Amino acid sequence: MVRAERVSKSFGSNQVLKSISLEVKRGEVMCLVGPSGSGKSTFLRCINHLERVDAGRLTVDGVLVGYEERGDKLYELRPKVAAAQRRDIGMVFQRFNLFPHMTALENVMEAPVLVKGANKAKAAARGRELLERVGLGHKADAYPAHLSGGQQQRVAIARALAMDPKLMLFDEPTSALDPELVGEVLDVMKALAASGMTMIVVTHEMGFAREVADSLVFMDGGVVVEAGDPVEVLSNPQHQRTKAFLSKVL
Ligand code: ATP
Ligand code: MG
Repeated sequence: MVRAERVSKSFGSNQVLKSISLEVKRGEVMCLVGPSGSGKSTFLRCINHLERVDAGRLTVDGVLVGYEERGDKLYELRPKVAAAQRRDIGMVFQRFNLFPHMTALENVMEAPVLVKGANKAKAAARGRELLERVGLGHKADAYPAHLSGGQQQRVAIARALAMDPKLMLFDEPTSALDPELVGEVLDVMKALAASGMTMIVVTHEMGFAREVADSLVFMDGGVVVEAGDPVEVLSNPQHQRTKAFLSKVL
């Protein structure tokens, strides 16, 4: 579903991704971990068309991200085409980013109605279904300010799902939450993984990685230092940098 082959990305003279190669198959969950500044968010942003890679090939579902291939030449993707491709990818951020002036249900309905031109009644029914799925059927008419952080994040997940994404990206979805609210969000993500969703999750929740992920990737300084089965990487890290990092987060 997602394949990166020697992907690099710089901001000015700062090379943030250095020849990253990795693959996430359909229905798999990959957890991405690493110290601050290692390039985790940048990598997700490249997948989601928020940044463009400078070198290497990045594909989602076999389609090149950011570029069009004509003959053996690459051309920057037109914004309209990029936007269309991005619709198939859901993203959930550390901050919930809900529209404060809209209810939970209105937040979930917004994109299908506005972007896909969905019928309002149908979008509302689907929105209620999705809120139900994240355990918030009873909060459909609540405004974000009246929801806890964990509830807001679950609405954000429902909102992303409303676009029927084939891939979900999570960038530290629980880091801004009070500890007692982390579990309810992870539970929703676990259920989503069990339903077969392909997911890339940047997180420091190693319990989640161990239990849910098919692969764990440790990044540092823009390179993939170590990748493999989560249980193996966590119990038997091969590299000093991985060991040092894990000793801090475990
Ligand atoms: P954190 O754990 O703190 O979220 P991260 O692994 O997600 O870190 P990134 O946000 O990808 O790291 O940042 C990697 C590097 O890229 C950092 O040095 C950062 O300053 C730089 N960077 C990220 N975005 C930009 C940007 N838009 N312009 C310039 N530099 C950027
Ligand atoms: Mg980040």
